[in-house]
Amino acid sequence: MSRVVSDRIRALDGYAPGERPSADARVIKLNTNENPYPASPKVVRAVEESLARLHLYPEPMSDGLRRAAASLYGVEPENILVGNGSDELLGLSFKACAPDGGRVAFPVPTYSLYRTLAELAGCEVVTATSLEGRVPPEVVAADADILFLCTPNSPLGYEIPVPELEDVAQRASGLVVIDEAYVDFGGTTALRLIDRFDNVLVLRTLSKSFSLAGARVGLAFGRVDLIRELAKVKDSYNVSRLAQAAGQAALEDPDWMESNASRVVVTRKRVAVALGAMGFAARPSAGNFLWVDCGAFGGRATYEGLRDRGILVRFFDAPALTSGVRVSIGTDADMDRFLTAITDVAKTH
Ligand SMILES: *Cc1c(COP(=O)(O)O)cnc(C)c1O
Repeated sequence: MSRVVSDRIRALDGYAPGERPSADARVIKLNTNENPYPASPKVVRAVEESLARLHLYPEPMSDGLRRAAASLYGVEPENILVGNGSDELLGLSFKACAPDGGRVAFPVPTYSLYRTLAELAGCEVVTATSLEGRVPPEVVAADADILFLCTPNSPLGYEIPVPELEDVAQRASGLVVIDEAYVDFGGTTALRLIDRFDNVLVLRTLSKSFSLAGARVGLAFGRVDLIRELAKVKDSYNVSRLAQAAGQAALEDPDWMESNASRVVVTRKRVAVALGAMGFAARPSAGNFLWVDCGAFGGRATYEGLRDRGILVRFFDAPALTSGVRVSIGTDADMDRFLTAITDVAKTH
């Protein structure tokens, strides 16, 4: 193997997804921000119907899904690129805007895939810390080929106000990717910025609010010419026929998504209050998760204590994040077990 894989790739760690308990384990999984509620029954029916055509390649541009998204979000189909998850769309931004390496910038902490993809692409990475909804000036001044802004932010839960995003779009010279993976849980969308800025790409995913993490469907919104260029660098058949059927049916049933998202938001608020009463500070969150500060006890000990009690949350061994854990919002029953377990963990302190 010594000469088979490039040294540059060998030196990288790769992306570390949240751990996955074995299927039979009775573990409550609150570590990857999945939706605890299943997708719409209309999704199941659409996927079943699509099975009869599995011998045929899917539509290269996911036309049916794209029309459904255009109609739901009030844009033209040509403003949308459908991806195999928004993770693929993040990768396409590198292929299109920094194909030979270059510079990318983003506030940290944030979604760790931005850095992984940047390293894979051989890009220089400029970061600055932000713990609330302001974009650090160093990040804007970096003159980056791509600037990533995750709002609502994972893992901290804050939002960057739309006027601030607008200001960044105005001042940035390269592509500004606004990653709105969690916006349906009470955030404010910046989607309309694509009408005024040719350098803005807004990303959405069906993995979280639409309960389709297993299907892999993401949406990129931008000006028609930007979308056309991004489409050039994708795989020809990047979204499977099954995923297109699932995604289209989900977008045609937004009431299902909204009712599940509302339940998650209600549970999130209840859990935040309960944690506060126990002396844990949960940051305000516009996502389907809470950032919980564990004080002197620390994030790692809390994570381990919860894991020993059958509950998986996310601990990030990164600067600014070791003092807390990120907890995805599950069903009310899941969260009651979580609250009982964290009370128990706190007693061992
Ligand atoms: C979950 C998540 C994604 C990935 O979405 P997929 O569509 O499942 O690839 C992208 N960005 C952020 C910030 C996320 O949390």
